[in-house]
Amino acid sequence: MPVPRFVVQQHDATTLHFDLRIEDGGVLRSWAVPKGPSMDPAVRRLAVPVEDHSMAAGEFEGVHEGSSRGSGAVIIWDEGTVDLVRNEPEHLSFVVHGHKLAGGFALTRTGERRWILVKARDEQARPGSDITAEQPASVRSGRTYDKLS
Ligand code: MN
Repeated sequence: MPVPRFVVQQHDATTLHFDLRIEDGGVLRSWAVPKGPSMDPAVRRLAVPVEDHSMAAGEFEGVHEGSSRGSGAVIIWDEGTVDLVRNEPEHLSFVVHGHKLAGGFALTRTGERRWILVKARDEQARPGSDITAEQPASVRSGRTYDKLS
């Protein structure tokens, strides 16, 4: 069995946001995370569930043609493998092995279309860090989203 993968894409659409996608059952379960993930366990990030995406969607880096708002640019901000530790209807905990993200995270449903993403307090945690600002570029191309379009 191949190891499940995760990807975080940065997407310049109506608003600039991140899309967290986690492989589960042959699709990518997906959440839009406006501010992106944090390696600081004290930081709680809103994660809005969106429809499952195909595995192929997680490979996309480029510019969506005809984007009505924003440039439509997408970069693969991080990717790697993921171990789903708990997979419940309103809670996921998982361990990622990415280029930027590492260690445990939890996603917990707190409302109708509202989940919270938080870093686990483990050896990979980096209190006080702001990884999306520190490491803005694509892990595939080294480019930032504004250099694609
Ligand atoms: Mn998006």
